[in-house]
Amino acid sequence: MIVSVLGHSAGVGSMAAISCLRIDTSTLLDCGSGVETLQENSLLAVERILLTHSHFDHCGGLPALLTCHAEHGGRGITVHTQQETIDELKAGLLAEPANQHLLGALDPQGQPLLRFEAIEVGDAIPLSDGMATALPAQHIVPAVGWVIEGPWRALAYTGDSALCPAFWHWAANVPSLSDIICTITSSNTELDHAKAEGLMTPGALLSMLEVIPPGVQIWINNLDGAEREQALAEMKLIAPPNLNIAQLQLSSVIDL
Ligand SMILES: [Zn+2]
Repeated sequence: MIVSVLGHSAGVGSMAAISCLRIDTSTLLDCGSGVETLQENSLLAVERILLTHSHFDHCGGLPALLTCHAEHGGRGITVHTQQETIDELKAGLLAEPANQHLLGALDPQGQPLLRFEAIEVGDAIPLSDGMATALPAQHIVPAVGWVIEGPWRALAYTGDSALCPAFWHWAANVPSLSDIICTITSSNTELDHAKAEGLMTPGALLSMLEVIPPGVQIWINNLDGAEREQALAEMKLIAPPNLNIAQLQLSSVIDL
């Protein structure tokens, strides 16, 4: 199972490719604007989205993806997320005039092009070569993280979250855990701002790193601009020496 990075930046409104990971060819983990880097054939191969929450930087690529399926006879998309997030999508992104038609669009078999499957923390979704399980998260809107278990290894993804000990303990108990993608948007100097926004800082992560087994690769994503160097330096200072910490790159590929 191959996880590739289509978008890893914060910064809504920037030209950066935003929050989107692809698992093999059929599954997306969040659907920010990074999905728009895919060619038409790759967009049509997407069958499902594992969505962490309703903020635009994590779901803003959904209309372009659905439009491609609608225009080229695609089989449509199933979105797996919490009921609260489904409700927020319907009242927000999909209620915008340019997107309203997508809710009623049909695939060639007459089935809805956009299908929702409500999940709760702990629910597991079978993938073609493994399993995805929803994990707890702590954000300013309802949110989940995910753990993706492949044939050999497992990747945990925080999504946007403040310090959520339940996520880290859950991930640490996955026997094949090899990688964690952790969203850190602020350096320690932005602690109050991060708390207000339901986001993680390097300092907040310190206590949780102690529960992670040795050798696990920690990938930091969503760092933008001036925050990047400072937050990465803070991370490397505080981290136990047996953990590998690196910045997630657009070219990063994680083989599970
Ligand atoms: Zn968010």
